[in-house]
Amino acid sequence: MRAYNFSAGPAALPLEVLQQAADEMLDWQGSGMSVMEMSHRGREYTSIHEAALGDLRELLAIPSSHRVLLMQGGGLAENAIVPLNLLGARRRADYVVTGSWSGKSQKEALRYCDAHVAVSTAAGGFVRVPSLDEWQLSPDAAYVHVCTNETVNGVEFAEVPALGDVPLVADISSHMLSRPLDIARYGALYGGAQKNVGIAGLTVVIVREDLLDRALAICPSAFEWKTVAQNNSMYNTPPTYAIYIAGLVCQWLKRQGGLAEIERRNIAKARLLYETIDRSAFYANPVQPDARSRMNVPFTLADESRNAAFLDGARERGLTQLKGHKSVGGMRASIYNAMPMAGVEALVDYMTAFEREQA
Ligand code: PMP
Repeated sequence: MRAYNFSAGPAALPLEVLQQAADEMLDWQGSGMSVMEMSHRGREYTSIHEAALGDLRELLAIPSSHRVLLMQGGGLAENAIVPLNLLGARRRADYVVTGSWSGKSQKEALRYCDAHVAVSTAAGGFVRVPSLDEWQLSPDAAYVHVCTNETVNGVEFAEVPALGDVPLVADISSHMLSRPLDIARYGALYGGAQKNVGIAGLTVVIVREDLLDRALAICPSAFEWKTVAQNNSMYNTPPTYAIYIAGLVCQWLKRQGGLAEIERRNIAKARLLYETIDRSAFYANPVQPDARSRMNVPFTLADESRNAAFLDGARERGLTQLKGHKSVGGMRASIYNAMPMAGVEALVDYMTAFEREQA
């Protein structure tokens, strides 16, 4: 029996994707080999690579002004790769700090530039998205960096402001492909695949073509966006199996009706869970309602001494990986695209029963 897996990432994959990968494991479509065994330059793998790139473009409605790059290193490596590629002659970049991941991005960027905190919501405990009039933007910033879904704190931008000329860079690791995005507003977007796009090992980068000539000379060539773009994400060996899985996930998303339909489902799942939390005096989520993440829902129990019992009971019901991030404690339910409504219903049923037992 498969569990309902609420892991923040690596996270649950659609069952159909796993079944297809299993069916094709030993012999991919009559090629006589596994995708893992294919040369990345061969005809078979090239078709997988092109299909994944094409489907990502189609699902996210990526305009022709932007390139899609399939890279390695994950979200954390991008914290260095972004300044290395975008600083050009400038020395400063602005960071909007709304949680632990954007905080890490800002700290890493300090190795390369004057990474200025334009605004931080740390004082209030990372429970909101600051409005644009709070952002203290620098006139000479090479870019402005945001994390549009804070995986640990459960804070999501409903939309990002239009900033004019300065490129907006977004870490979309934990909500990529969960909703349509207006890609044209961004200079660059990036995210690790292991939450909503597939498995660990692949980093998706979307970058506006005219920003490709700003890399610093010290940028490693395998991490230089221009080099990767010019080589169609085949400058070095790409993470072929992770790209194959991302391609299967994209095909699955298209069969579901694309991002508009998946967003509708994600809204319904998140609403059910937040309503359950808000209705109860036993569970609490601290995030302001307009900034609550549809993907990552942290919550605490009124009686923290019941945490272990809650997790044990959940595991017995096949509800797994609900332990919260160590920095915030409590619980966290990550409900990415692959989590069906039935999984959220099973969770809220359990939460209601557990609360009743405490009375
Ligand atoms: N940014 C965000 C928003 C994340 O959720 C994560 C991973 N949880 C990272 C960056 C770091 O990604 P990686 O582990 O792939 O380097």
